[in-house]
Amino acid sequence: MIPKTREIEGALALPADTLAAIPWRRELSRAVSDPAELLRLLELPRRLLPAAEEAARRFPLRVPRGFIARMRRGDPCDPLLQQVLPLGRELVEVAGFVGDPVGDLQAAARPALLHKYQGRALLIVAGGCAVNCRYCFRREFPYADHSLNGVARREALRYLAADPTLSEVILSGGDPLLWDDVRLAELVEELARIPHLRRLRIHTRLPIVLPERLDGPLLDWLNGSRLRPVMVVHANHPREIDGAVASRLERLRDGGVTLLNQAVLLAGINDSAAVLTELSERLFAAGVLPYYLHMLDRVRGAAHFEVGRREAGRIVRQLAERLPGYLVPKLVREQVGASAKVPVELQCPA
Ligand SMILES: *Cc1c(COP(=O)(O)O)cnc(C)c1O
Ligand code: SF4
Repeated sequence: MIPKTREIEGALALPADTLAAIPWRRELSRAVSDPAELLRLLELPRRLLPAAEEAARRFPLRVPRGFIARMRRGDPCDPLLQQVLPLGRELVEVAGFVGDPVGDLQAAARPALLHKYQGRALLIVAGGCAVNCRYCFRREFPYADHSLNGVARREALRYLAADPTLSEVILSGGDPLLWDDVRLAELVEELARIPHLRRLRIHTRLPIVLPERLDGPLLDWLNGSRLRPVMVVHANHPREIDGAVASRLERLRDGGVTLLNQAVLLAGINDSAAVLTELSERLFAAGVLPYYLHMLDRVRGAAHFEVGRREAGRIVRQLAERLPGYLVPKLVREQVGASAKVPVELQCPA
């Protein structure tokens, strides 16, 4: 199955010339999607190109230039590059690696609304991301069937309003911060009118790959709402957090937003206690607490990123020896049908 809908959406509320004047929009439109250009910018060998082009036809390359600037030139093993470079290995079918590994489609209570866990519901707010992570569990998600527009949006809001057990709404995607601030502010206002909702959570990778997104207008609607704001960002490696990312995050935190990070445990990228220790340190320095460390979801094309359970447990035990408890993320995996993320046993199986 080929996802057709990874396009950037959300640019509807403002005219094109206004959008071009917004720095993060400009950066977004300059993101690299041609594998040849990525290899050229990083001075990488041309022999990587045919496989990259082939894999990108199944799941496109997309990466902002500011993120590329944090990669090492001439190093095909760079941990940031490995998260975004399409590889021939993705095209090899591996048993157990499937299109919808976390059962998203059966959790859709309404189009664009997933309700898996008690008290929390998740809205699919945008059908694309600023960066396409090769390991993404939603690589094949049919975003076109889950667009939060018109009827779907009214239906979703009606569903949330009708269930008083819900106290939190999660804006996810794709990346919800691809919507412009006018649209997001409207949506959040509508959510805030639902009396039983108390928290607004945003799952986004934009603050890491395109920190310009954390600008004044965003802070206005986020802090202007009655709902308590929580932002869960997504960084996997300490080098993703440079000075610009850290200072934007700190500003957000100082504005009263609770900041958490979720990472995915990825072979060859962050499967070491040293790397994850440094990640926690850098996150904390930027005002962010580590939240989850996810076992890889077994999505088609991502088998080469998998770290085994035993190894994962060993790494997190080492992490716990090196760091205060509040800087050790919870190692979890997602299980279809479970009522929460499932903690992974840290002890070695006998
Ligand atoms: C992960 C997830 C959540 C949030 O789970 P927490 O444990 O609260 O972080 C909510 N809804 C869905 C569908 C999820 O996949
Ligand atoms: S930012 Fe998140 S949703 Fe988007 S491609 Fe990466 S992992 Fe997937």
